[in-house]
Amino acid sequence: MKKKVLKFGGTSVGSIERIVHASKIIKRESDSGNKLIVVVSAMAGKTNELISMSKSVSNNFSKRELDVLLSTGEQVSCALLSGALNKIGIKAKSFMSWQIPILTDGENNNARIINMNVTQIDNYLVGGGVAIIPGYQGISNLGEITTIGRGGSDATAVAIAKIFDTDSCEIYTDVDGVYSTDPNKIPIAKKIDKISYEEMLELSSLGAKVMQSSAVQTAMIYDIPLQVRSTFTDRQGTIIFNKENLNYSKAVTGVAYSKDDAKITLQSVEDKPGVAAEVFEPFEINKINIDMVIQNVSSDGKTTDITFTIKREDLNKSLEILKKNNKIRFKNLSYKNNVAKISIVGAGMVTTPGVTYKMFRALSEENINILAISTSEIKISVIIDEGFTVKAVKKLHNIFNLN
Ligand code: ASP
Ligand code: MG
Repeated sequence: MKKKVLKFGGTSVGSIERIVHASKIIKRESDSGNKLIVVVSAMAGKTNELISMSKSVSNNFSKRELDVLLSTGEQVSCALLSGALNKIGIKAKSFMSWQIPILTDGENNNARIINMNVTQIDNYLVGGGVAIIPGYQGISNLGEITTIGRGGSDATAVAIAKIFDTDSCEIYTDVDGVYSTDPNKIPIAKKIDKISYEEMLELSSLGAKVMQSSAVQTAMIYDIPLQVRSTFTDRQGTIIFNKENLNYSKAVTGVAYSKDDAKITLQSVEDKPGVAAEVFEPFEINKINIDMVIQNVSSDGKTTDITFTIKREDLNKSLEILKKNNKIRFKNLSYKNNVAKISIVGAGMVTTPGVTYKMFRALSEENINILAISTSEIKISVIIDEGFTVKAVKKLHNIFNLN
C-alpha cells in the first residue's frame, strides 16, 4: 500500500468522457490498495475562458475578484470527478482549499503555497476515501481566495506530496512523458525513461513544456521524485528525479530549440567598467528578458563588441531603447531577426570530454554557421539561422545517439 498524489491536468479532465476515464484510473489505483490524494486542474480552456470573461467586464478587473472567479474552474472539475468516482462505487470527496485549508502567502494571482492542514484529509484517507483537491489555489492568512500562477496545479501536487509525505507524485497529462526533442515537429524524438531535475529544467525552459518549471524546482529542492505519464495510454512515462540516482550512459539527454529569437550586436562599444550595465539597465526597466550575452575580447584595448539575444517580439522595442540610450557610445548597431537557439542538454556531459567539439563539428558538416555560443555545466547552446533549425536538431539528435 502506498500513499500517492495523482494529478490530472486540464486535458485529462477536459470533458465528461475524460473525467469518467480519469475516474477509472483512480479506481484501479484505489483497488490496488493505495491511499490517494487527487489534484485536478480546471477543464481544458476553462481558465482562459474565465480570464476573458473578466476582461469583457472590465480591463481593470480587480485581482481579488479574478481569483474568486478563476478558482471556480478547479472547483467544477473536483466536484465532477468526485461524482464520477462515487458512481463507480469509490468513496471520494472534494475538499476546497479554504476547507483544508491550503495557506498561501503573497499577492492575488501570484501567491505561493506555504502550508496546509493534513489532519482532516489524512483521516479521510485512513477511512478509505479518495480526497479530491483543486490545484492552483489556496487562501491567504486573511481568508481571501488566492491563485498561485498559471499552470499552478503542478505546484499544488508537489506541495501536497511534500506536506503529506507521500510515496509518489504522478502527473497525468496529454503526453507520454518527456521527449529527447519536440515530438510534434521532429518525429525521430524518443521518450526519455528517466531524467534528472536539472535536465528537465533546462529542457522545459527551452520549450519542452511538460510540467511547470517552478514545480519541478520545488520537487528538486525537497527531492520528491515525479512521474509524468499519459492519461490516455498505459505506456510507462518519464521519471524525474535526483541525478545521483541516474546512471549516465549518454553524454546528451535531449536537444531543445527555441525559435522566435532575435540577435543584436553593438559594435565598438567603449571597453571600460560599467558599460555593460549601462547597456542593459533600460532592458531591465522595460522588463525585456535578455538571453545570451557575448562580449568579445577587445582587440584595440579601447572598444569591444557586445552581442545578445532576446525574444523576437521584443526586437523593435530593444532597438529603440538602444538608440535612445545616451549613456552609451557605439559605432554600429546591427541585428538579425530570424535566429533560433539550439541546445544540447545532458548531465552526462560533465564527465564526457569532447562534447563541445562534437557539436560544433556536426553543425559544420551540415554547413550551418554558428552565430553565438553559450555553455553551462549541463547545456551547450548555439544561435543559428532559424531556417536550419530542423536540420540542426536532427543532426545533433543523431550524432549524440538519441534516435
Ligand atoms: N487551471 C490553471 C491554468 O490553466 C492551473 C493549471 O491548469 O495548472 O493555468
Ligand atoms: Mg494545466
